[in-house]
Amino acid sequence: MCKSETPLVHAIETSGGKGMPRSYRDHSVVACNEEMLATREAYALQTGKNQQRRLDAFDTCRHRAWFVRHKDTGDLRVAAKSCKLRWCPLCSKKRSWFLVEQIKPWAQSVSRLKFFTLTLKHSDAPLHDQINNLYKFFQKYRKLKYLSDNIRGGVWFFQIKKSEKSGQWHPHLHCLIESNYMDREKLSQLWQRTTLGSMVVDIRKAGDSARITEYVGRYSARPSTLAELDLPGRVEVIEALHGRRLMGTWGTAKAITLTMKKPDDADKWEHVGYWSTVWGCLKSDINADKILHAWKTGEPLEAGYSMREIENFIDSKTERVLKEPPEHKQLYLFNNRELPI
Ligand SMILES: [Zn+2]
Repeated sequence: MCKSETPLVHAIETSGGKGMPRSYRDHSVVACNEEMLATREAYALQTGKNQQRRLDAFDTCRHRAWFVRHKDTGDLRVAAKSCKLRWCPLCSKKRSWFLVEQIKPWAQSVSRLKFFTLTLKHSDAPLHDQINNLYKFFQKYRKLKYLSDNIRGGVWFFQIKKSEKSGQWHPHLHCLIESNYMDREKLSQLWQRTTLGSMVVDIRKAGDSARITEYVGRYSARPSTLAELDLPGRVEVIEALHGRRLMGTWGTAKAITLTMKKPDDADKWEHVGYWSTVWGCLKSDINADKILHAWKTGEPLEAGYSMREIENFIDSKTERVLKEPPEHKQLYLFNNRELPI
């Protein structure tokens, strides 16, 4: 999804010395600048009354960020104000981390876990109709006796690509399933009968925990890589998928939570410094050094290290109204181990 070798949308600006990302957003977009740009262009062509608000939210996603420390464990994270738009690459990434955490316990608890892929043959039908058909076929297919007798449950993810050769869409479903052995030839025949012509299915053992993490992480992040599509294709896919479910569960996987929610221990996380204050005071304030060290290494931060005092001081000198950090109870916390500097 993310390619780093392409030119940056915005060069990283520094205001506090070499190596200081001006904002958490600047720090975060480095890994996916091409996808950010492709998404921004497509969002800019959307219409509707909330269009400007949506663009503003996208452009400022993760700009405002602050470090938080867990009162009991000392763990350090970054919390940030995010746009939560479906196609925002930064928010997609966060969503996929959340989903990996939710899906893995189920995946590791079942024996005979498999990767199962169902594809539709290329067609010139409107994309909207192709997606409707895929979902309808999938529901019908799962109810067939051979499948319902052998599959106890699963998680499905919608994905879509466009053929470079023909320019036709290629919608498909990736599933993680708990099942008995099933014959690929038989599965293909049944899929062909259900879809009236599509016969490509793939089923294979899921492999180890790392492979499961990679699989869920990749397919749950976003249904398509927008940077691989031309602009009309991006606009078409965003509109065709608007308001649609892009993943789901059934059977033994039904209890998995797919909707992000605030952490159960949200009130345990305390503000220890804004992103800008901490980076701005690096190497001149022990608190900033300790906070960044903990964030980079994943080591706990000892109690008492905080930029609160200096933030209060700066605020009193500039006569700004001291605002409490945004209510991070309503926001999601980042896992610093996944954001190495
Ligand atoms: Zn976002």
